[in-house]
Amino acid sequence: MFECKTEVGPKTVGEPQAREPRPDPLAGMKNAVAILVENPVNRRLIEAAAITLEMIPVVVGDQSEVLSSLAAFELILADEQVARLLRASMVVPGEDVQVINPALVAVRPQCPTPRLVVERKDADFEGVLLLPQKLAAVVAQLGLILYAQRSFARSYQGALDELHLDRCTFQCVTSGISIANVTLPDLPLVYVNPAFEAMTGYSLEEVLGKNCRFLQNDHHDQPGLTLVREALRANRETTAVVRNFRKDGSAFWNELSLSPISNREGTVTHFVGIQMDVTARVEFEAALRESEKLAAVGRLAAAIAHEINNPLESVMNLLYLAHEAEGQKVMLEYVTMADCELKRVAQITSQSLRFYRQSTRPLPIRCHDLLQAVLDVYRSRVEQREIKLEMRERMAEPIVCLESEIRQVISNLIRNAIDAMQGSPGRLLIRSRETTEWKSLKRGVMLTFADTGTGIAKDAMERLYTAFFTTKEVGGTGLGLWVSAEIVQRHQGRLRVRSSQRAGRSGTVFQLFLPYQGLA
Ligand code: ADP
Ligand code: MG
Repeated sequence: MFECKTEVGPKTVGEPQAREPRPDPLAGMKNAVAILVENPVNRRLIEAAAITLEMIPVVVGDQSEVLSSLAAFELILADEQVARLLRASMVVPGEDVQVINPALVAVRPQCPTPRLVVERKDADFEGVLLLPQKLAAVVAQLGLILYAQRSFARSYQGALDELHLDRCTFQCVTSGISIANVTLPDLPLVYVNPAFEAMTGYSLEEVLGKNCRFLQNDHHDQPGLTLVREALRANRETTAVVRNFRKDGSAFWNELSLSPISNREGTVTHFVGIQMDVTARVEFEAALRESEKLAAVGRLAAAIAHEINNPLESVMNLLYLAHEAEGQKVMLEYVTMADCELKRVAQITSQSLRFYRQSTRPLPIRCHDLLQAVLDVYRSRVEQREIKLEMRERMAEPIVCLESEIRQVISNLIRNAIDAMQGSPGRLLIRSRETTEWKSLKRGVMLTFADTGTGIAKDAMERLYTAFFTTKEVGGTGLGLWVSAEIVQRHQGRLRVRSSQRAGRSGTVFQLFLPYQGLA
C-alpha cells in the first residue's frame, strides 16, 4: 500500500501498513512513475524529470510494493539489479491477463568516460538510463521511452478490447461452444462456454484436458460420429447429429458443427465445435417418419383393394355365366377362367400380407421379388393409364435389407412415376443390374426407374428430399422421398435423380443403388 496524494509532486512511500486496509490511492491513476533508486541524487533527478513530463513520481520502498500495484504505474525506474529481479517477477501477459505491464527502465551508474555500448542484457528492459546526467537529457530519454510505451499501449488495448468482446460473445451465446487442441495427443478440450456447461451438466473444470467422447457414454457406433471422425482426420468442416449423454445420464440429440482453426502458418491447431440440443426436432421427425410409414401402408391397402376388385368382379360375372351355361363343357370353361382370376387374387393377397409384415431384422432378398411385389399392386393402375411397362432385369445376388422399408422406397418411386404420367399414355422402364459404386467400392444392385412423365422443375429438384414438398394437388404428402432418402442412407445406399421438362422429351430417371451388405 502506498501513501500518495493525487497532486503532482514527489512522495515517499513508508513501510507497508498492516493495520487497517485503506483504499489504494493509486487505483485508477495511470501516469505514475515508480522509483526504486538508492542514490538520492539520482532519485531527485528522476523525480524532477517525471514532473517535467507531467507524471507523478512515487518513491517506493521495495520491489514487492511495485509488483502488488503494477497496474498503477506507467513507468518503473529501478537500479539495475532490482530491475532485473522485477523483470523476472513480472507476469508476462497471457490469456488471462488483461493489463499492460509498465515500461521497466534500468538505472545504471554513468562511467567516468561515457560509452555508447549497448549490452545484450539491456534488451530485457524497455530502456537503460545512465546516471547522473543533465536533467534535459534524462527528460528526453524518459520522454522517448514513454512515447513508445504509450503507442504500444494504445494498439494493445485495442486488441485486448477485441479479445474481451470475443470472450463475451463466447460467454453469452446460447449455443454450446467447445474448443479442442489438435496439436496435443487425443484432442483435449481447452475451452467450453457456459451454454455447453448448461447443456451437458459438466463444468469447465471437469472437461478441460479430456477428449469430447465422454459425452457419448458407450454409444461410439453412430453414423454421425463417422462423419465427425472423417472431418477431424481430413481437417475439414462438418455438421452431424449425434446422440450424447448429460452428466446425469439423460440422453439428448446434439447437432454438432465442427470447424478447423489454423494458425498464421496455415496449420490446423484447434477445432471449434458449436453444439445445439435438437432433441425436440429429431423426435418430431421420427414421429413423422413413423406416421408416413403407416400412411404408406394405408395407400397400399387402397391400391390392393382396387387391384383385387377387378378379378373379383370377373369371378362373379364368370360364375353367373357358368350358372346360366348350357352344357357342361361351356360351364367348365367359365369355371376355369374364374379359377384363373381367383389365383391372381390369391397372389395379390399373399404379396400384400408381406407388405404388412414389418421386418425388424435385415434379411437377404432378391431384387426381382421386391420389384414384383410392388408391381403386382400397381399392375391394374398401370394398365388403366395405358402405361407401357418395360422390365430389364439382370441376375444379381440378394441384398441384405429391411424388406418392408426398401419396398416402401420402390413403391414410392413407382407411384411417383405413375402419377407423373397422368393424361398421356407413357412408358415406365425398370432396370436392375449388378454394379460397384465407384466411391465406396461397394458391390450392390442399381435399380433404375425411368418414366416419360412431366419431369421435375429446376427449383423443385433442390427441395425434392425435404419433408412436405409436394406438387400434387390431391394425394400428395411430400413425405415419400424424404422418408426414402433416410431409408436409403441407413442402408448405405444412394438415390440419384435426373429429369427433363423439355416438351416432347420430358421424363425423370431415379437411380437407386443398394449395396449387398449395407445393413449386414
Ligand atoms: P408426394 O408423392 O407425396 O408428392 P414425394 O416425396 O414422393 O411426395 O415426391 C415429392 C415431389 O417430387 C412430387 O410431388 C413431385 O413433384 C416430384 N416427383 C417425384 N418423383 C417424380 C417423378 N418421377 N416425376 C415427376 N415428379 C416427381
Ligand atoms: Mg410420393
